[in-house]
Amino acid sequence: MEKLIITIAPTGNVPTREINPFLPLTPEEIAEDIYLCHQAGAAVAHIHARDGNGKPTADPEVFTQIARQVQQKCDIIIQFSTGARAGKTAAERGACIALKPEMASLTTGSTNFSNSVNFNPPKLIAELAQKMNQKGVKPEVEVFDLSALEYAQYLVKKKILKEPLQINLVLGVPGSLSGSARNLFFLVESLPQNCTWSVTAIGKAHRQLSVLGLALGGHVRTGLEDLNELDEGKPVSNLGLVQRVAALAQAYGREIATPAEARQIFGLS
Ligand code: ZN
Repeated sequence: MEKLIITIAPTGNVPTREINPFLPLTPEEIAEDIYLCHQAGAAVAHIHARDGNGKPTADPEVFTQIARQVQQKCDIIIQFSTGARAGKTAAERGACIALKPEMASLTTGSTNFSNSVNFNPPKLIAELAQKMNQKGVKPEVEVFDLSALEYAQYLVKKKILKEPLQINLVLGVPGSLSGSARNLFFLVESLPQNCTWSVTAIGKAHRQLSVLGLALGGHVRTGLEDLNELDEGKPVSNLGLVQRVAALAQAYGREIATPAEARQIFGLS
């Protein structure tokens, strides 16, 4: 089986310090957490930025600070988020693409979050994708529902996206596809032939679907963006989550990819 790529998503847009005291918010804290997770086996860092008040921001200056500090510490693959919570327009959400991270997230369909719309109309998707193509940034296709997976394949036909796709199957977001094993199998069976894929399971689904993804040959994302506790009432740290995935992989007999190996698997230059 291909080596396992562990992605760390340390911050996201939703968690707060009140929910989890381990949550990194400033560029310094985020970079240090990513470094520790890299030491424990993470090969990709999926990065959201927060402003001085801890609120989500699409400000490229904050992304620059985070990337610079991460790169001083380690060679982990940097993936910026272009998600719907930090900005409204394609220009706002895609401002970080101009900084040329190796990867950036690209959600290829609209669903709901628990209290808002995961707003990704076709024009915005195309604008973000074209900006990534221009800057040589590999998209990670974020799939919250089957329709987004099918739409990504439509965009390949339209030459807006290029194969092989890296597809992240996101399950368990209230308002989107729920985190059941059946739904994961359904999405995995619907993947195109020529792709790499990973599982991001939110909240309670995290434990089960991470194990299934690992066993099915997918890659695994973890981090405080996706869950705050493994055991009820006990906040976990990003490092603790990565160590747990690494231990699962070891028990299963699947080797863990270094960033250099992950670059080869994803076809990054
Ligand atoms: Zn994210």
